[in-house]
Amino acid sequence: MALEKTLVLLKPCTVERGLIGEIISIFEKKGLRIAGLKMMQLTDAILSEHYSHLSDKPFFQRVKDSMMTSPVVALALEGVDAIEVVRTLAGPTNGRKAAPGTIRGSYCMSFQANIVHASDGPETAAAELKRFFKDEEIFDYKLPTMLSLYANDEF
Ligand code: ADP
Repeated sequence: MALEKTLVLLKPCTVERGLIGEIISIFEKKGLRIAGLKMMQLTDAILSEHYSHLSDKPFFQRVKDSMMTSPVVALALEGVDAIEVVRTLAGPTNGRKAAPGTIRGSYCMSFQANIVHASDGPETAAAELKRFFKDEEIFDYKLPTMLSLYANDEF
């Protein structure tokens, strides 16, 4: 158990479908602290870095293009085991296979237009937070609800 930060992007499909508030609200209601929040237009350069693990896939350019059709909303979320918690909330990549109740399972039909990006491990979370946020855009205020969200030895 550790208090962690993770990077979430609300993808252009989410912005275009008017689901920004609804998806952010899922993270807030779960008990994650919003440590950073901003809208940004992504570029081919930042996406080539972000999706470098997909560079040999036939759909690489298509995925990057889909991330530039409108701005994204970037979130830095904090909580105990936040990286795994957010991946579990997001569900598997293909929205058609994702279980109901997960974000992708509840809100999308697509492998590609799948509502959110979420960091998949501690190293990627650190690199991705740095990629999308400047240090001064991450805020370290405290949630006054911590003792309602967790037992006192959990954080
Ligand atoms: P995840 O976003 O679940 O971590 P990946 O890192 O494997 O998944 O892929 C990054 C993004 O690329 C996915 O969220 C999705 O938008 C897109 N993608 C991955 N695989 C496919 C695929 N087979 N077909 C279409 N889009 C894909």
